[in-house]
Order: sequence, then structure tokens, then C-alpha cells
Amino acid sequence: MKADPFAQLRLLDLQALDSALDRLAHRRRSLPETAEMQRLDALVAARHDDLVRAQTDASDLARQAAKFEEEIEQVRTRHHRNDQRMASGAITVAKQLQEMEHENATLVRRQSELEDRELEVMERAEAVQAVLDALESERDAHLAARAAAESRREAAFAEIDAEIERARAERTAVAGEIPADLLALYEKLRVSEGGIGVGAIERGRCGGCHLDLMGNEKADIRAAPSDVVLRHEECTRIMVRTAESGL
Ligand SMILES: [Zn+2]
Repeated sequence: MKADPFAQLRLLDLQALDSALDRLAHRRRSLPETAEMQRLDALVAARHDDLVRAQTDASDLARQAAKFEEEIEQVRTRHHRNDQRMASGAITVAKQLQEMEHENATLVRRQSELEDRELEVMERAEAVQAVLDALESERDAHLAARAAAESRREAAFAEIDAEIERARAERTAVAGEIPADLLALYEKLRVSEGGIGVGAIERGRCGGCHLDLMGNEKADIRAAPSDVVLRHEECTRIMVRTAESGL
């Protein structure tokens, strides 16, 4: 293959732009903020079940406490009504008064028992609430840290994307100066050779694989006309002669 030496030099510029674009894409994929967001998501997920359990326990206990409260209120009302009826003098039969007093005594015991049970439930509710508060504040801290990481990532994306856009525009211009056959060969080598399709010969070394060229290779290169597109036998990449080639 033959190509104008200037076009061969432009191929080195194209390689530099493609390598820069590869680095930008890699940077975009491996931003530390993404790992940080994943780490925080995992922490939130790990606590999810505990949080739901604590929420369920807290609402169950609140319902139980409300139920005791309601029962206690009914006992109090009944007791109060008995007191009123007894005080009103409407009940004149001694046996009825006795029964009412007896019921009141039962109601007092019942109220005390309900209050003890309610207190027990409230103590458990308090303990569960403390766990729930801790889990919720931990989750809120994780979500806040995640949001902060996400907004830092958005800023980094915007910066990287602007650089990608600039490099792509420049790449289009440079690619336009390279003959189609040379460009196609370069693209093919870039795919097969880990992103590097061309290298400058520098101080007697292939710029693609960094191996020293053999004496006979150097002699062949010196003998080749400047428009011949050179390939390194060892790595198959295109080699471009520059002023620093040291041939
Ligand atoms: Zn090489």
C-alpha cells in the first residue's frame, strides 16, 4: 500500500485522537462516583428488610397501644357512670348498690391490668422506634450521599462529554485527510490490535508495540520510498517514519 507521507503523519494524529477518545470513554465508564453510588445502593438495600420489619413492628405496637387505650377508656366511662348512678340516689335497692360497687372494684382491677399491658407495649414501641429512627437516619444519610455523588457524576459527565465532542469533531476533520484504503487498514488494525493501529518509528523502535527493530528491518525501511506504507512484521501495525525515527 502507498500513501502520501503527509497522510501517513496525519494517521498518527488520528491515532492520538482515537486513543484520547478511548481514554475519555474509559474515564466515563469508571468514574469513582459510579462505584460510590453502587456502594451506597448496596448499603441501602442491605438494610431494607430490617427497615421494613421495624416499620411494621412500630405500627403493630402503635395499634396495640391504641386498642388498650380504647379499652381503658371504656372501663373508665363505665366506672364513672356507676359512680354517677350511685351518687344520684336513683338506686335504692341495697343489693343493686352492692353489685355496682362490686363491679367498680372489678373495673379498677381491670383498668390497672390494661394499663400495665399498655405500658409494656409502649416500652416495646419505644425500643422499636429507637431502632427505626436509627435505620431511617442511616438510610437518609446514604441517600443524601448518593444524591451528592450523582450530582458530582453529572458534572463529570458533562465535562467528559464536551471533550468527547471536541475530539470527535477533530477526528472527523483529520480522517477526511487520509486515503480510504489506509484509513480502512488502520481501523481494522485498531480493532484487532487493542486500539493501536499505527505507531511512529521512534529511535529505531516500533511505536505500536515498542519493540526494537532489527538491523535488516531498519535497512529495508531506509531503502523503502517515503510513500510506502510500512508494517511491523512483529505486531502487524502500520509504522510511520518521522524526523525522530533514528533510522
Ligand atoms: Zn510493532
